[in-house]
Amino acid sequence: MIPRVCTVCQAEHELSVSAMRYLNHEPYVCSAECLLDQIKMCGQHNGKRKLRYVPYKEENHSKTGEFWSDHFQQFFASGYEEDVARVLECNRIIWKYEKFMFFIGTTIIVPDFYLPEYDLFVEVKGLWRGNAKGKFSTFKYRYPKVKMILVPYTLRVSVQRYLRGINA
Ligand SMILES: [Zn+2]
Repeated sequence: MIPRVCTVCQAEHELSVSAMRYLNHEPYVCSAECLLDQIKMCGQHNGKRKLRYVPYKEENHSKTGEFWSDHFQQFFASGYEEDVARVLECNRIIWKYEKFMFFIGTTIIVPDFYLPEYDLFVEVKGLWRGNAKGKFSTFKYRYPKVKMILVPYTLRVSVQRYLRGINA
């Protein structure tokens, strides 16, 4: 077991070695509630000029492994992404899906969600495949002013519990 401290509630959690496969060096959050606080801690957009981003055209969206959401009447890459969208919706946080792209060397990354009120990107992350961690580090290095938080797969149970609580 590996201890990680939640960056929001400061509670220490013992994570299994397999859970660590879903995490990187980003600040760790332990629950859906802490995730929401983390978003709010990123600060509401304060009226300063927003950064400019390159739009990602909808016709470029990947069609592989897509998940149709009846609720939102759109595709997501996974049901987990839809769950995260529902948590945001429940909290009246406006989100845009795959709205902008960033150039990383010869490739691009398209973060899952953009929250305009917070000028913040939210990336829902499953397993870190291939050189995904290197790509993410390069992104952080190339775009230091862009705010992005990760929603790791380890939060999935908490996110689902949160939604059950809302719908109960
Ligand atoms: Zn926490």
